[in-house]
Amino acid sequence: MKLSIIGTGYVGLVTGTCFAEVGHQVICVDNDAAKVKTLQAGGIPIYEPGLEELVKKNVAAGRLRFTADTAEGVNQSDVVFIAVPTPPQTDGSVDLSYIERVARDIAAAMTSYKIIVDKSTVPVKTGEKVAETIKRYCASKTEFDVVSNPEFLREGFAVGDLMNPDRVVIGVRSQRPVAAMTEIYSPFKAPIIVTDINSAELIKHAANSFLALKISYINAIATVCEAAGANVQEVAHGIGLDERIGRRFLNAGIGFGGSCFPKDLSAFIKISEQVGYDFQLLKEVQRINADQMARFVKKITETLWVLKDKKIGVLGLAFKQNTDDVRSSPAIDLCQRLLKDGAALRVHDPKAMDKARPLLPNVTYVEDMNAVADGCDALVVATEWDEFKQLDLARAKKALTHPILFDGRNLFNPAEMEKLGWIYKSVGR
Ligand code: NAD
Repeated sequence: MKLSIIGTGYVGLVTGTCFAEVGHQVICVDNDAAKVKTLQAGGIPIYEPGLEELVKKNVAAGRLRFTADTAEGVNQSDVVFIAVPTPPQTDGSVDLSYIERVARDIAAAMTSYKIIVDKSTVPVKTGEKVAETIKRYCASKTEFDVVSNPEFLREGFAVGDLMNPDRVVIGVRSQRPVAAMTEIYSPFKAPIIVTDINSAELIKHAANSFLALKISYINAIATVCEAAGANVQEVAHGIGLDERIGRRFLNAGIGFGGSCFPKDLSAFIKISEQVGYDFQLLKEVQRINADQMARFVKKITETLWVLKDKKIGVLGLAFKQNTDDVRSSPAIDLCQRLLKDGAALRVHDPKAMDKARPLLPNVTYVEDMNAVADGCDALVVATEWDEFKQLDLARAKKALTHPILFDGRNLFNPAEMEKLGWIYKSVGR
């Protein structure tokens, strides 16, 4: 099928590429001219495992191309996907100005029937507003359908998630777009749920809020474990094997971050408030998450006492492993708190250092993770990159003024670390 994707970021680029991979003709549109130029020249503006090869393959096969011209994308496709940002506003509600802008751009460009699919994460009832806007601004009075098709990919695993989704949710107002939507997704062999637009929109916020809740739940358990002398990883293993609960998203640490969970949680609290429900449970999820970071910083300051003039090595800047994304990253938040208290930082991340530079201009970036410890008073693990487990602990121990490691992601074994002579502090163990 002929598809266009408006917004070529983490979601748009991976979605467009995977659609091309299964044989669709795809045009990815972005209003960031520099990004489009990079993509047209064969560059990939984000790090996502497996993406670069897939983009190159599909561009070479003539199934994937890039443009900065929305009208071109709209005119040369039957189905137009919207994958632009929906950032939070200061009161927690969603800034829908990007969606509205794109709806108007699509309306202005349309000259034949189109299916307009919202893939961005939006509050319930946004589909209705998009339909109203397109109707209002479409001078040609062309027929169209609006569909909600929320995206559930995880950064760091986006290609795999797109190629093998757990489910595909399609929210519609009429049956007309269902056949085309089903055809687009038929190569992916995933259960397709066809529902109304409001339910589809709600599924996304309800899903992300539940996942955030699961993380806050295990972090609260971690706090109890610490106080009671238990081990949160043992507890997570013990409860996670119950298939009604499941082991995933039960890793205690310094809390969740990223461009989705914090904003989607705030948005869902706001959306609920607007329809007359005070979602206290989710407010508690937020509180536990904020607390988790504060408790970890306290652990550092209790051990190192005064941070002014202390040198701390930080492993990890991305909001989680396998991505270069630092948006709302707990690791960046942690660095900023340590800097505010007067510490000097040496930092390393396998992929996210370039994106972190504007947020952390006054730290020393270290290319070799094993050299981060050099001359530091302590080491901190802030992101759960697998390679950090291979850290040369003997070298680090010699390079530090004292062998102190604060492990915000529980990557190492407390008993082994103690045996090796480390002062080792992790979360919930
Ligand atoms: P992003 O910032 O990486 O990408 C958005 C892109 O849209 C940018 O390249 C931007 O230049 C472009 N853009 C903005 N306005 C435009 C316009 N008027 N015309 C054309 N392009 C425009 O954002 P993202 O992470 O891909 O997220 C997009 C949406 O998907 C958000 O609603 C987000 O909540 C949702 N989502 C994100 C993820 C994720 O893991 N990142 C997962 C599921 C859903």
